[in-house]
Amino acid sequence: MAGLQSPIKKNDNVVVLAGRDRGKKGRVLVVEPAKNRVIVEGVNVIKRHTKPNPQKQVKGGIVEREAPVYVSKVQLVCPQCSAPTRIGHQILEDGRKVRVCRKCKGVVDK
Ligand SMILES: [Zn+2]
Repeated sequence: MAGLQSPIKKNDNVVVLAGRDRGKKGRVLVVEPAKNRVIVEGVNVIKRHTKPNPQKQVKGGIVEREAPVYVSKVQLVCPQCSAPTRIGHQILEDGRKVRVCRKCKGVVDK
């Protein structure tokens, strides 16, 4: 899987296929292509307990933030047919390469 280019892009809506957050949907906030990972809004939220550190002006407490998930564990939700789908590619008449939904054949990219 290493080096495989992810078809998932920032601001895509995806659904989680496996793990604790299975079935959850969210927007992709960050794509980490080198690691094949994405950060999805509201998915894989971890709580970190932080100790107060007055010298660094850090308040103690619990910080919640999203941890990356493997891109193979999410699937794009098609903006056209609203179904989770695999992605194909198509080259338009003007030469642009766009992503298309394998289910409805609709163009995913604007
Ligand atoms: Zn579709």
